[in-house]
Amino acid sequence: MKPLSKNIIVALLVVLALGVIFSTYDMGGKKAPETIGISALVTKIEAGEVKSIDVEENALTITGKDDTEFLANKESAQSLNEILTGYGVTAEQLKAVSIEVKEPSALTSLLRNLLPTLLFVLIFGAVLFFFLRQMQGANSKAMTFGQANVKESTNKKNRVTFAEVAGATEAKEELGEIVEFLKTPKKFADLGAKIPKGVLLMGPPGTGKTLMARAVSGEANVPFFHISGSEFVEMFVGVGASRVRDLFARAKKAAPCIVFIDEIDAVGRQRGSGTGGGHDEREQTLNQILVEMDGFEPNLGVIVMAATNRPDVLDAALLRPGRFDRRVTLDRPDLKEREAILKIHAVSKPLAADVDLKRIAERTPGMAGADLMNIMNEAAILAARADKKETSQKELLDAIEKVMLGPERKSHILGDEERLVTAYHEAGHAVVGHLLPFCDDVHKVSIIARGRAAGYTMSIPDEDRKMHSRNEFYDDLAMTLGGYVAEQEIFGDFTTGASNDLQKATAMARELVTQFGMSELLGPRTYGSDDDRPMFGRAEARDYSEKIAEQIDSEMNRVLADALQKAREIVQKHRSELDKIVNELLTKETIEKEAFETLLGPSIKRPKVTVQPVNV
Ligand code: ADP
Ligand code: MG
Ligand code: ZN
Repeated sequence: MKPLSKNIIVALLVVLALGVIFSTYDMGGKKAPETIGISALVTKIEAGEVKSIDVEENALTITGKDDTEFLANKESAQSLNEILTGYGVTAEQLKAVSIEVKEPSALTSLLRNLLPTLLFVLIFGAVLFFFLRQMQGANSKAMTFGQANVKESTNKKNRVTFAEVAGATEAKEELGEIVEFLKTPKKFADLGAKIPKGVLLMGPPGTGKTLMARAVSGEANVPFFHISGSEFVEMFVGVGASRVRDLFARAKKAAPCIVFIDEIDAVGRQRGSGTGGGHDEREQTLNQILVEMDGFEPNLGVIVMAATNRPDVLDAALLRPGRFDRRVTLDRPDLKEREAILKIHAVSKPLAADVDLKRIAERTPGMAGADLMNIMNEAAILAARADKKETSQKELLDAIEKVMLGPERKSHILGDEERLVTAYHEAGHAVVGHLLPFCDDVHKVSIIARGRAAGYTMSIPDEDRKMHSRNEFYDDLAMTLGGYVAEQEIFGDFTTGASNDLQKATAMARELVTQFGMSELLGPRTYGSDDDRPMFGRAEARDYSEKIAEQIDSEMNRVLADALQKAREIVQKHRSELDKIVNELLTKETIEKEAFETLLGPSIKRPKVTVQPVNV
């Protein structure tokens, strides 16, 4: 409860109590009569000034000859007569005063007796009420424990449609069918067709799975129940299952509708693997989901959509027919789709005339929709901070780097020596990358610190590629080690600045050997699964012998040594080019692609594949 409303209630109570107290006195609008003592009363009687006395229990109301009123109190034990006689008032004097004894009315005496109790009960009740309210506030979570924390949205304003999801043509086509089901379930029922129960959206993070699910509900114009898989799982076993029941009970009432379980891998992981407290709970929750999905009458009109970026870890039972048997994949967008996504997020953002979203799309291969949205937004923020009225291309390009590498740290001034080392390090990457045929084009070299890096070299593929060849891996490895090599060749020493590069190179070499079968020695097989995230208590899922483990190590070392050698040869042979880049970096801090190619000449990249299939 807010303190303000609490204060108001307290104030009201005080006013009420005061009102009750004062209302028992009859103020009658007149000025309150004076209260006098018994001896003063006696004096007045003896002086013959008193006309009458009304006695009501112990309260005396005295009316004088001149009609003035006084109040007095007597002891309860004695009667007024006794008291006055005791004070020496004579019988004659008393006769002159008319004394009237009033029996108190039943109601007043009742009220008088009950009032303190009543007040007490009232105040006590109020206090109790506060406590209860407060406790409820704190415990409201406990009270709604078994209820699902679903966000239902039927809101017309936030309605998303397919028009707001760029690209993903196939996914939209697939889901269009679901929209039809939801719009006109009867049409399908009449033909005896069963409406699908579950749709699984799969794809890397940020590719618009949640957005797409919303769009389906928006297109069909049905309620949308949104819950995240992790919200099912609490500390206590059974809570998740009860939440599932609650969720589906609500959905059935709202049918036709969509139930969307985001990040379903949180509960839908393969059962019977893994350890730890959450395990039983997950299993029960998952079982309950399966039971609910099986329990739908056909054509009820509740469609369960779920999203995951790890379909590989899902329990097989979730995927069998009758459950999530429709699967829709959302991929990272290609060049055209990236441009379309940028366009969608450029709506309502004023853009300068020089903005070329196609170029931005070209510069962002591998980025998902969420990253692109982020870039548009960061660019608008940069423009606003520069007090511009429109976002221009420059801000967009800056935003890409900001999203990719973290914010620029202009205040992070390097000392002269560190600046020189950083310049040679980045020049090493750039020159090796430029001269090796399978590396991507170098787009920018900079010694302005960004995020955690002291400088950076940005290379971008000239087209979207989904596959990578061994030659590309080998050349990329050499480029990654280019900075390390340059430092060693020039200064005869290393800095910690290369540690990130070494981590990257090691991971790449491991994948090359264990996942892609690119090492002749170890042959075309994989070693270990890529799901061996070592959870606590669980050993890494290793499916090879100790001897192979040694071979993997030595093979990784060989691959890295080869790459190092390749990089070293280039750095040694092209020392003058290296120096050129370093000089430019020291004066300008940043070199863009065009300037870079003027200094080094155009890069000679790998020849296109020209072999034609042989006709037979
Ligand atoms: P996911 O659920 O796959 O992780 P989201 O649906 O949460 O991704 O996407 C995050 C944001 O990225 C969305 O709100 C949307 O603004 C943007 N986005 C992603 N993909 C697209 C797309 N294809 N078209 C337009 N915007 C997109
Ligand atoms: Mg999501
Ligand atoms: Zn580096």
